[in-house]
Amino acid sequence: MNYNPVTNEVIQALEQIVGARNVKTAPEVLEAYQSDESLTPDLWHLPEVVVSPGSTEEVAAIMKVANQYKVPVTPRSAGTSVSAGAVPVYGGIVLLMERMNRILEINTEGMYLVAEAGARTADIQAAAKEKGLMYAGDPCSADSCLIGGNLATNAGGNKAVRYGTTRHQVYAIEAVLPNGKIAHLGAPLKKCSTGYCLDQLIIGSEGTLGIITQATLKLVPLAPYKLDVLAVFTDLKKATALVPQLIKAGLNPTSVEFMDNNFVRSASDYSELRLPHYEDGIYDIVSIETFSEHELDEKMEKLAEVCEACGATDVVEADDRVWKVRRNCLESTRVFSRVATSEDLVVPVTKIAECIQTLVEESKKYDFLIFCLAHAGDGNLHFQIMKRDMPDDEWERQLAQFRAFAYPYVYQLGGRLSGEHGIGYKRLSYMEQYTDPVELELMKTIKKAMDPNGILNPDKIIHVE
Ligand SMILES: Cc1cc2nc3c(=O)[nH]c(=O)nc-3n(C[C@H](O)[C@H](O)[C@H](O)COP(=O)(O)OP(=O)(O)OC[C@H]3O[C@@H](n4cnc5c(N)ncnc54)[C@H](O)[C@@H]3O)c2cc1C
Repeated sequence: MNYNPVTNEVIQALEQIVGARNVKTAPEVLEAYQSDESLTPDLWHLPEVVVSPGSTEEVAAIMKVANQYKVPVTPRSAGTSVSAGAVPVYGGIVLLMERMNRILEINTEGMYLVAEAGARTADIQAAAKEKGLMYAGDPCSADSCLIGGNLATNAGGNKAVRYGTTRHQVYAIEAVLPNGKIAHLGAPLKKCSTGYCLDQLIIGSEGTLGIITQATLKLVPLAPYKLDVLAVFTDLKKATALVPQLIKAGLNPTSVEFMDNNFVRSASDYSELRLPHYEDGIYDIVSIETFSEHELDEKMEKLAEVCEACGATDVVEADDRVWKVRRNCLESTRVFSRVATSEDLVVPVTKIAECIQTLVEESKKYDFLIFCLAHAGDGNLHFQIMKRDMPDDEWERQLAQFRAFAYPYVYQLGGRLSGEHGIGYKRLSYMEQYTDPVELELMKTIKKAMDPNGILNPDKIIHVE
């Protein structure tokens, strides 16, 4: 791609839009925004300027300047992407969304909430809860990530098995298109067959088709009865076999999370907590929510039966400590290595048991550290792969070898490369390699039509000449 450098003229134009204090070029600032939570430094790139808009109109004006000078723009929310999604591959402008963080409306009658894209996910959850409602989007990074980042990546999380991923929580969005026009897409309607579903096209497009500036999010009634259960196994086959049984039993769980013993130990240590079977336990965490006490009792009884039939060593009522450990999984691995990568494979739920077993077995052939957890009820498994004391080229060789086994295997099961983290810059070449050519071509056609100058988040998801 050929872009122009960010000149003094560009800086001045940006300062006129957002004010000089919201335009930063100091080396230490640029360095802070070269990376995100993708822990593979060879993917990082320095931006030339970091700009913080305060309104949709300012975002629109910035995009017009970027088009005029042919400078690339990388939208960035909290930078918790583990796919190098927020990395400015060609330098240019990093567009920081965090100043646009207001919750504008909570409509308890219509059961929706309107927020600017820079609102923190946890703040949205808390605001809904205060009104006796729930925002069901719940990535493990909710305390840090911003709603715009969740929408852009179609984030999943702990409640997706019952409520779906972020795209299922949305009525409408406001977005600035690559040409600087402001689009209002979708509406708070139960149904709509009025033309293309363009809000859903932009949601999950990882900031390549538009910058989301505002969202109207669905709220659901807060279920008054809830119980979390920790089913502990010591046998991987049994632990993974539980998932399809739970779904078949009609329990409609809110969460079904799987943690291998590596994660049990590392996240427990990190959280300074000791849960049952720390030494050898493989965990399935299951949450059930209901609107009547009677229904909860019935479902708990059934759940205990299913867990025992699947060979659980222990079935205990869980509390917040279990969720603390679960949420700390990824963070807890930082102590093992500063170079790591997260895999985010997704397969049909019916194949999750087979997939975990096969890939855990395969992973034993390599020298790197590899931990496994899964949003098992969604068929979405994460491998955290960490570089040990090994030469860089050996690390890359072994990683490529693992992927050369895992990716075709997952596609053969009917799966895909990413269930929730997105393709970002990290999986660009694999997207090219594994996507159906007709589908890939269609994506490139859409990107070219919406962003003819190729300035919005280039080299994320797809590469377009
Ligand atoms: C500890 C930890 C736990 C995590 N747990 C989960 C989990 O459970 N589920 C899950 O899905 N992910 C998880 N993630 C990954 C990450 O948190 C999500 O991808 C999240 O949605 C990113 O949000 P963010 O605000 O940090 O966005 P960023 O990382 O800043 O950006 C992500 C992508 O969206 C684009 N983007 C950002 N804002 C906008 C916008 N306003 N408009 C258009 N494009 C935009 C960026 O260019 C980038 O491509 C986890 C990450 C960490 C570090």
